[in-house]
Amino acid sequence: MSDDANADAGAAGDTSATAADSDEAATVSVDSLGKTYASDRRTVEALSDVEFAVEDGEFVCIVGPSGCGKTTLFRIIAGLEDATSGAVTLDGSPVTGPGTDRGMVFQEYGLFPWRTVSENVAFGLEEQGVEEPARSERVTEMLELVGLDGFADAYPKELSGGMKQRVGIARALAVDPELFLMDEPFGAVDAQTRDMLHGELLDIWAETDKTVLFVTHDVEEAVTLADRVVVMAANPGRVREIVSVDIDRPRERTESEFAAYVERIRGLIGE
Ligand code: ADP
Ligand code: MG
Repeated sequence: MSDDANADAGAAGDTSATAADSDEAATVSVDSLGKTYASDRRTVEALSDVEFAVEDGEFVCIVGPSGCGKTTLFRIIAGLEDATSGAVTLDGSPVTGPGTDRGMVFQEYGLFPWRTVSENVAFGLEEQGVEEPARSERVTEMLELVGLDGFADAYPKELSGGMKQRVGIARALAVDPELFLMDEPFGAVDAQTRDMLHGELLDIWAETDKTVLFVTHDVEEAVTLADRVVVMAANPGRVREIVSVDIDRPRERTESEFAAYVERIRGLIGE
């Protein structure tokens, strides 16, 4: 991984203004958020009065059992779904739709199979109208950041799950979002690769100063990564408690402190 990947980003030329690192991370405020899915047959209260705030540059994990509304919450913050009540604000502005101020990574990778790795990473930059050579420079930087510089011309089908997810991370970071949103991004990769990606993600976070909101059902993953863990409960989806994880990084699963946090959060979830 390149140490100066971001320091150099601003030097990519005039056309890169939108892609240059802004040094700005977002604060997120979730206020009395509610979401009800209603159909002829049934009504589901996916979220009820969800309330929390995320500070600039903070790494927050959202954990909870399947069906507690994690993905619904993620999609509302991403602007992909409307809330039934309440609001999400980003740096004080209400979220009304998707935007390049939020970079998203999903479990299913979401890569374009017909595009090479570098073409996938370039996607958001094309959308933003970033011209060459700034675009290619930014793509190269991002591939270095995620350790895929040798795979620029490969196609997604030629990559392992972990590599695909690195491409997803590079693509999301390329447009320099203020908020990095991840929904169970490492759910489909093996445990060993996941450990490695955790380390890489924390390095990238430290390097880029992004605010990160990371959704997972894996309590150990949350305790490995987060400054704070928002613990949710289901039926209706709601916040049970918010736990600050006061352990220095890198964190070791074998430490007693780590195990104590895991146990406490599992207790809150009812596992
Ligand atoms: P999680 O990601 O925590 O597993 P979800 O946000 O996916 O939870 O789902 C929360 C609840 O909302 C579940 O009961 C789910 O069945 C319901 N739900 C999610 N999306 C929809 C939808 N588009 N239409 C109807 N119900 C939905
Ligand atoms: Mg989900």
